Amino acid sequence: MINTVLCYLEKDGKNLMLHRTKKEGDINRDKWIGVGGKLEEGESPEDCLLREVYEETGYQLLNWSFRALITFVYGDITEQMYLFSSSEFTGTEKVCDEGDLEWIPKEDILNLPLWEGDRIFLRRLWENSPFFTLTLHYDRDGRLTKRAIHEENGRDYLTFKKLNALPWLMNAFSTRRGGVSEGRYASMNLSFSVGDDPARVVTNYRLMGEKIGVSAEDMVLAHQTHTTNVMPVGNEHRGMGIVKERSFSDIDGIMTDTKGLCLVTSHADCVPLYFVDPVNHAIALAHSGWKGTAGNICKNTVDGMRLSYNTDPKELIAVIGPAIGVECYEVGPDVAGIFRSKYNMPECEAILRPKDNGKFDLDLIRANLINMVNCGILPENIEVSDICTCCCHDWMHSHRGSGGKRGGMAAFLMIR
Ligand SMILES: [Zn+2]
Repeated sequence: MINTVLCYLEKDGKNLMLHRTKKEGDINRDKWIGVGGKLEEGESPEDCLLREVYEETGYQLLNWSFRALITFVYGDITEQMYLFSSSEFTGTEKVCDEGDLEWIPKEDILNLPLWEGDRIFLRRLWENSPFFTLTLHYDRDGRLTKRAIHEENGRDYLTFKKLNALPWLMNAFSTRRGGVSEGRYASMNLSFSVGDDPARVVTNYRLMGEKIGVSAEDMVLAHQTHTTNVMPVGNEHRGMGIVKERSFSDIDGIMTDTKGLCLVTSHADCVPLYFVDPVNHAIALAHSGWKGTAGNICKNTVDGMRLSYNTDPKELIAVIGPAIGVECYEVGPDVAGIFRSKYNMPECEAILRPKDNGKFDLDLIRANLINMVNCGILPENIEVSDICTCCCHDWMHSHRGSGGKRGGMAAFLMIR
């Protein structure tokens, strides 16, 4: 096991980045990273932090925060990395003998050649995420093959920053925590179609409702059959799919402008799409598995909102919630062929990764992001979750991660 320290120094909205250009045989050669290095015998992470930052930059840290513990696995090597940040330091910057130091505005950093996993923890650093652990596995080609996140005080449900900013809105995405189901469904299962006792699922909806401040009688659950059908819902649909029979079927996307009506869709790898029109106060949720993605349920939802609520896509705030990541989602040439017929060449290069076995890794999340942007939603108005349901299947239900023996999570969205 190797122990290392990495630190991102911050000043005026910039991070001090090290372009690793000078060391022969450096695993990080040509990559941009923070400053740091290996722990020496007898050193604590803090000792190493202070020494490495001084040696590489000339700065002496006055204050710092321990932000995350990152475990890297590449080949038969395991590296534990203590991740720090600091905005209080003194001294004069010097030339670093391992690469070129440069202060880079945060908004430009993600455009640099970075390790894929670094993007995950950098975003979390910038968002002032609570302490987290992250396990990153890389293959021989430097490709990320696993990214498992655990947060401090694991919460029963997640919310999204861009939606939290709108006080008239309630948003949530459940985890496996906090319910009454057992075994493969444990414990918060919100799917009626996986074989769990329906009474327990209803109890789980009531428990989730207490956490998010909504009664199960005011929720409406889509009827998901991998269609691209989207439908407006209103007061007459309250409770449907959860505490009473639905009057509709084969609907994978629902939208409303009714206050106090909570939209619900069910997920376990398939992509949850949230849409919020802050001008006309209208909302939508869609379930986008590979069929919904290839068939572009995103476009149907945006078109539906335009028709029903006069929504301008440029005003929309959108979220792509936790879903299966590209590293975990292998598909055959048949599915890859369908995506090739729907997306142009550069888009296909971004969403399909050919593998040695003749199959492909499909990036459903990226495909939905492309769908959103092609609908006219502005990239800066889209938030994408960094959680892969399959890599995190100890606290997320995952169809692939569990070999199909699983419960389901749910997305919730409501105008207060
Ligand atoms: Zn994954």
